[in-house]
Amino acid sequence: MKQYIDSYQHKGLRKRLVDLLRTKGISDERVLDAINAIPRHFFLDSAFDLRAYEDKAFPIEADQTISQPYTVAYQTQLLQVKKSEKVLEIGTGSIYQSSVLAEMGARVYTIERQKKLYDAQKDFVFRSKYPNIKFFYGDGFEGLTAFMPFDKIIITAAAPFIPPKLIEQLRPGGMMVIPLDEGEVQRMLRITKNTDGTLKEESFEEFSFVPMLTGKNN
Ligand code: SAH
Repeated sequence: MKQYIDSYQHKGLRKRLVDLLRTKGISDERVLDAINAIPRHFFLDSAFDLRAYEDKAFPIEADQTISQPYTVAYQTQLLQVKKSEKVLEIGTGSIYQSSVLAEMGARVYTIERQKKLYDAQKDFVFRSKYPNIKFFYGDGFEGLTAFMPFDKIIITAAAPFIPPKLIEQLRPGGMMVIPLDEGEVQRMLRITKNTDGTLKEESFEEFSFVPMLTGKNN
């Protein structure tokens, strides 16, 4: 059984990670506070207990990864999440990104296509702490029509194209942050759906994600 202990050593390392993210250009204090509040080592195998506070992606189950803290902070900052906003996340993975959004007060709807990772949410340590996260097993390309429209959408896997159904599920004035494939790497884009339905596209840094794949995997 994994022990969930957040020691002074973990807290100290986490504080250093937050300082590092600040030097790398993350300036939204609400994002930094959320990262400081969440024990990232709880989301990883105990083999990574202290390494959890390195600014690195690590393997999780089903050959997937927990995103690098800088990437999580970067996407969250671009998303400009406000309290009580409805946020759709594609790619639950380790539940770390969902937790950052939930810690910031968002109402999170997260979709995962890997059954093994979806099932892991049942043992999720923060289930009672974050009742504002709702888990779904499905294909993120389809989104969640039953819960649309969303204020914000965040895609945490490399998208081959901008999923049209997700644009439909975004409310007018809403924003989507998406790492869009550009060959070997992905370009981070922020797409704003204007009130007249047209799209504004802003382009940011390059990142490297696991692929966004169609269909479910059981
Ligand atoms: N947000 C996660 C990152 C996980 S990596 C975290 O904080 O840990 C990306 C995840 O996206 C993987 O778990 C992968 O299985 C999932 N994924 C890929 N394509 C998907 C799709 N079409 N629908 C839902 N999830 C998808």
